[in-house]
Amino acid sequence: MIRFEAVSQTHSCGTQALKNISLTIPAGQVCVLLGPSGAGKSSLLRCVNGLNQPTAGKVFVGDIEITPRNLKTIRPNIGMIHQAFNLTTRATVAANVIAGALPAVPTLPALFNLFPREHQAKVCELLDRVGLSEAHLTRRVSELSGGQQQRVGIARAFMLDPAIILADEPVASLDPAVSEDILALLVREARARGATVLCSLHQLDLARQFADRIVALKSGELVFDGPPADLTPDA
Ligand code: ADP
Ligand code: ADP
Repeated sequence: MIRFEAVSQTHSCGTQALKNISLTIPAGQVCVLLGPSGAGKSSLLRCVNGLNQPTAGKVFVGDIEITPRNLKTIRPNIGMIHQAFNLTTRATVAANVIAGALPAVPTLPALFNLFPREHQAKVCELLDRVGLSEAHLTRRVSELSGGQQQRVGIARAFMLDPAIILADEPVASLDPAVSEDILALLVREARARGATVLCSLHQLDLARQFADRIVALKSGELVFDGPPADLTPDA
């Protein structure tokens, strides 16, 4: 469960990115944040993992308020998927996936057999789930296509079986056909684990296709909150 209570965010330059957002996302829901560039989607997502401190209001994950002090407790429960993948491209697929559990690993030269056994097993399981084979384990990420790289990003995000997945424009760098596959994969994995998903998108059609609920933002304000069927194109 994620709860935003009257969250506002004013960036240091004076831009008001979020204006009094209140929102409760129940456990297991797939919630899409929809809105054009600059609407505040990223700012809202970053309040959940502590990369942003709201100027006003509170954010809760379960019963725990997000504060700098308890970020360490909360971060293992949150998997993050990025627009630009944020992988270590010179490192192997295996090392990047393991980084979801051991953040320091990808800078080391990767020898898969040196990783803890339980992590090796988990990486193999996740790669299979995201449609990559064991042959990809020792490939460098830089040799993969964009779609394959985001598959690695998704595997990494699920490494610790987090209760929450935050995805910030996860398909904005991908072709439309690949985008659909990647979102389907992300949502399928989240549902298989009962994870709550908060995913920002700017494409209405993709939001409609994959969301249980759409929250639309415009200039930092919540302008729609409801099931996809209730969202009219001009909303
Ligand atoms: P979106 O993710 O919907 O594109 P953002 O949350 O990135 O929207 O941005 C919302 C507004 O806040 C924009 O006007 C953006 O320029 C501004 N903004 C975002 N991050 C920062 C920052 N770190 N410093 C100053 N302004 C920011
Ligand atoms: P991402 O793609 O990871 O969401 P962005 O490309 O939006 O990041 O922004 C890169 C960095 O610049 C971030 O730290 C973001 O907070 C900051 N930023 C974004 N928009 C602005 C802005 N209008 N003014 C100042 N900083 C910004």
